Amino acid sequence: MDARDEPAHHGKGRFAAERGRRSFDDRLERRMIDPVELTRELIRRPSVTPRDEGAIEVLQRALEGLGFACHRLVFSEPGTDDVVNLYARLGAAAPNFCFAGHTDVVPVGDTGAWTVDPFAAELREETLWGRGAADMKGAIGAFAAAVERFLAERGREFGGSISLLVTGDEEGVNINGTKKVLAWLEERGERLDFCVVGEPTNARELGDMAKIGRRGSLTGYLTVKGTQGHTAYPHLADNAAHRLVEMLHALIATPLDEGTAHFQPSTLQVASIDIGNPVSNVIPAEARAVFNARFNDRWSSAALERHIRARLDGAGGRYELRVHVSGESFLTAPGRVSEIVVGAAEQVTGRRPELSTTGGTSDARFIVKHCPVVEFGLVGQTMHQVDERVPVADLERLSAIYRRILDNYFAADPVA
Ligand SMILES: [Zn+2]
Repeated sequence: MDARDEPAHHGKGRFAAERGRRSFDDRLERRMIDPVELTRELIRRPSVTPRDEGAIEVLQRALEGLGFACHRLVFSEPGTDDVVNLYARLGAAAPNFCFAGHTDVVPVGDTGAWTVDPFAAELREETLWGRGAADMKGAIGAFAAAVERFLAERGREFGGSISLLVTGDEEGVNINGTKKVLAWLEERGERLDFCVVGEPTNARELGDMAKIGRRGSLTGYLTVKGTQGHTAYPHLADNAAHRLVEMLHALIATPLDEGTAHFQPSTLQVASIDIGNPVSNVIPAEARAVFNARFNDRWSSAALERHIRARLDGAGGRYELRVHVSGESFLTAPGRVSEIVVGAAEQVTGRRPELSTTGGTSDARFIVKHCPVVEFGLVGQTMHQVDERVPVADLERLSAIYRRILDNYFAADPVA
């Protein structure tokens, strides 16, 4: 769709309406991308996973205005929803700096509990309100604006390429998103050299924290088998509930490990215990539990599964265990690459971000198989919550940080 056919909205003319009528340099002078306005445009597209609602196109228009070659990649698979993704690249030279993120958002929950319309992108008290403001449309707006400012100063011969890998399937099942874009890139022989993921990594203030790795996640579905019987005659039965208690005790009584150089100790949490016995005088024949382990780089998921099975075997009894691994742990060892991000954040905020591996999984777990990854974005305090919001000043400062990251990366001696 041509940008001019779109209904009137805030900020449209800033990056879209003039497209094609002015030279690249003219447009740069006009400072078309305002990080706040671009973020507002993105928030106004209610892109609750897996729907796109035009969010990718908003970004694509902004990037095309800067000269990016954009590939809109729609992936589908039987039994899953189609997902719109974007890979955009400016330049052909190496090294290729990649910014990765997602335009999809989690559902708003109870709309009535919001102070504002979650998709109206309201500005109130120097704060931008709306679903996705923090996680993570704000970071995308900040990065696009940073690229423009970087190009305005450096021109297009900055000694490499800048790319964006943005998916519409990060908050969902992660099937038709980043993983498939990476496979598509590999098929084309397209290489990423360094990636910054714009997830909200800061706990309270911009500059708190960058993430250089994440723990892995393994979910176990445990079914314990016994023999049904009368509670008055337990010697004739084998109580599955009792065996389950013993097995779960075996899993939680001793820590999995004591932590590693860059990781907290691995954890295992029982999420559910389910016997479903409607009466009190029958010994149950079957009992089920679900547990989730978040594991550090001491373990591969395979090694952890073997360890868990050994503990269950030690407790005794018949059981079935089905395991689902949603990601292995990974680490980009602290060094020159993490310093590019940490240094930039410190230059802008005066705070030196802690290098952390805490929190849940992100698409960084897929990207790290291709290049070093550091995650740095907004403050995550309100992400996934009612009244998600971000201070306007943080959007401006994050954009300044991303700009510095590009400066640091494409310095005279680029780190490839
Ligand atoms: Zn996110």
